[in-house]
Amino acid sequence: MTAPTTSYRPATLLVHGGTERTPHGETSEALFLTSGFVYDSAEQAEATFAGTEQHYQYSRFGNPTVTMLEQRLALLEGAEACRMTASGMAAVHAAMLSHLRSGDRVVAARALFGSCHWIVSTLLPRYGITTEFVDGGDLGQWRTALARPAQMVLLETPSNPMLEVIDLQAVCALAHDAGALVVVDNVFATPLLQQPLRYGADIVVYSCTKHIDGQGRVLGGAVLGRRAWIDTTLQPFIRNTGPALSPFNAWLLLKGMETLALRVAAGCRNAARVADFLATQRQIERVWYPARSDHPQHALAMAQMSDGGTLVSFAAAGGKPAAFRLMNALRLIRVSNNLGDTKSLITHPATTTHMRIGGAERARLGIGDGVIRLSVGLEDADDLIADLAAALAAA
Ligand SMILES: *Cc1c(COP(=O)(O)O)cnc(C)c1O
Repeated sequence: MTAPTTSYRPATLLVHGGTERTPHGETSEALFLTSGFVYDSAEQAEATFAGTEQHYQYSRFGNPTVTMLEQRLALLEGAEACRMTASGMAAVHAAMLSHLRSGDRVVAARALFGSCHWIVSTLLPRYGITTEFVDGGDLGQWRTALARPAQMVLLETPSNPMLEVIDLQAVCALAHDAGALVVVDNVFATPLLQQPLRYGADIVVYSCTKHIDGQGRVLGGAVLGRRAWIDTTLQPFIRNTGPALSPFNAWLLLKGMETLALRVAAGCRNAARVADFLATQRQIERVWYPARSDHPQHALAMAQMSDGGTLVSFAAAGGKPAAFRLMNALRLIRVSNNLGDTKSLITHPATTTHMRIGGAERARLGIGDGVIRLSVGLEDADDLIADLAAALAAA
């Protein structure tokens, strides 16, 4: 069965990419829920371990269901290769720790997902890897930090939760001059709205827990990049440290990918409507949504993304008490720190996802006490707007 090639468009790749049928000719991808594999002979086992024969060995190293997902995601991203991990954080951790060594230097955007921030600020220094944070939207700071050699750059665009956009092309050029590989955490944009490799990024990481599953079921992660780097740097690290994705979760993620384009498009449409509604409300001080012309980096966002995404952030006038009153008055939209789900979820970053970074760092990132992050789901936009309108009236 020949696997589809990159000549297919994204919607087709999402349904067919990477599929390898067994001789039974099943329609849906087969779930190989097995930890190990048997060999026809001792000689075949020997040849497999010597690398002269291709055969699955053990699901920590590889599994046919996981391979289908890796190939589907690599085709969609336009990457040479992909490795799945058990969570998004395992993907970020593996991408960084497999490459870096003592004495290396990392430059990172300050606005990172909380656990990514912990890896860069707390974990890496324990191993003698120095780190420097910059304000991602300020090219001058990138230029200064990358005037000295560095081995890796880590950034997220749009960022969580302020939806700040980073100029991928400019930062990648500076990073490469400094000798650094650029790792882009592309969760908020999804592989459909932004392809960082096109702008010069070397490695793209995903939390597949978010839009790729998108139905609130499983954790998963992915690392994509050049085949030589994946095979010689990342794969030995994954093989020997074991952040392997369960084949069952890989199977769910394959099914999630089949509807990804539909879900992301519908989520973007809903998010744009909700953002426009919120912008007209006097209890809302400010709305951040990349596809709105009042987003501070709207032009850059629309140059490197094909739509605004499924997240909207806004500031409630009246700080934390007003934000909590509004969130507690919602009936349809539920309070949760997750995102990218079919269900709309709302969170107060200052007291949850961004509590641990402290008040001073939150102030630097512009995460005020009134800021609320809304992950817009697939409900009818009119019902979401009615829920927000009723909650604003009650609050
Ligand atoms: C959720 C998330 C992660 C971590 O992914 P997990 O699957 O929860 O481990 C990393 N980066 C971003 C931007 C995220 O939203």
